[in-house]
Amino acid sequence: MTPIDQLSKAELAALRASVQANYDAFRAQGLKLDMTRGKPAPDQLDLANAMLSLMGNADYRSEAGEDARNYGNLQGLAEARALIAPILGAPPEQIVVGDNSSLALMHDSLVYALTKGVPGSARPWAKEESVAFICPAPGYDRHFAICEEYGVRMLPVRMTGEGPDMEEVERLAADPAVKGIWAVPKYSNPTGDIYSDATVARLAAMRTGARDFRIFWDDAYCVHHLTAQRNAVANILEECARAGNQDRAFIFASTSKITLAGAGLAFFASSPANVKWYLSSASKRSIGPDKLNQLRHVRFLRDAEGINAHMDAHRALIAPKFAAVIEALDRHLAGTGAANWSVPQGGYFISVEASAGTARRVVELAKAAGVALTPAGATWPYGKDPDDSNLRLAPTFPTLAEVRAASEGIALCILLAALEARTA
Ligand code: PLP
Repeated sequence: MTPIDQLSKAELAALRASVQANYDAFRAQGLKLDMTRGKPAPDQLDLANAMLSLMGNADYRSEAGEDARNYGNLQGLAEARALIAPILGAPPEQIVVGDNSSLALMHDSLVYALTKGVPGSARPWAKEESVAFICPAPGYDRHFAICEEYGVRMLPVRMTGEGPDMEEVERLAADPAVKGIWAVPKYSNPTGDIYSDATVARLAAMRTGARDFRIFWDDAYCVHHLTAQRNAVANILEECARAGNQDRAFIFASTSKITLAGAGLAFFASSPANVKWYLSSASKRSIGPDKLNQLRHVRFLRDAEGINAHMDAHRALIAPKFAAVIEALDRHLAGTGAANWSVPQGGYFISVEASAGTARRVVELAKAAGVALTPAGATWPYGKDPDDSNLRLAPTFPTLAEVRAASEGIALCILLAALEARTA
């Protein structure tokens, strides 16, 4: 396909008319499709249905003999910590198992830092004149929402394909007001970036203006591969310790997209000092987590191999959906210059860079044609995409047939918006 920027005025007008006709025909089907949220589909949740009948009505003792029905053990059962330890790359004694949401643990960690400070803080972060976080973008809207909620200034830094632009991160981190950074190190939401060894080493070792700087290392997609390749990322705790910054990283993860999105286990892992700090505040908030769910997960998943096998079953269900989106984007847009898109090796999203200034229009066109897309701008701090170009596609929840239909429409909308911008 000839790049649309090389077409003559007449050719552009002709192409716009034909794409408009295709779009009108798509719209006339009156479909109702939703590609907005990264939720597992019902058939993915079915993979964990055996958990619903675990553990019968007599199996409630931990390996250490604790009665999992009762209060207590804020850090979580030893066997649940051992289950996730090889995946998080942290020793079990440096892991906390929380209830069902890692986002809640991230929220709480930031609130504890703001109200009390973290190990190494001179004062609570909220007592500083100003608190800022580095926000790799496009990124996860809910990270940004937490910052916005508590008045933490957000400093966007562009993603490069192997994590954020580290020159820019290092420059910003030199400011003492900058207390942290968000990071989704594997299959980043939404760009699919896998942080390179160099990115991890630089994050661990960089000089920070704040001595209590923290990396909020959200390993949400640590085992969520879309290919046979189980990509690994360097161990952030080890890298931080090697660089003499042993307290720098807070690791978060969960089984939301492994077992059950509303009834999984969430994890916090960090240095001994940070774990002690976390548990001290968490002990005021709760007398203990749901340990029956921890036992249920241990019985069902068993070990790291069990987790990998389970994730292979997820992959079989969702990889074809990602392939369908990529196929439609390729067929309509390859060579046009109207957009670039990620081909993720894992995670839950495809990120599209549409023509500058057209993302909002694409979402509008898609809505009119019955396809709900994540609002343009959602992947940037404060909802402000400087180029109005990023679109986040979430293909896991709809059926494969729905993903195929929606992708067709989305590709047409991206092309039509690009042509409108060039023929206005
Ligand atoms: N972190 C990232 C990067 C996510 O994409 C999501 C969900 O989409 C979450 C966290 C939510 O995790 P949880 O269900 O454990 O709260």
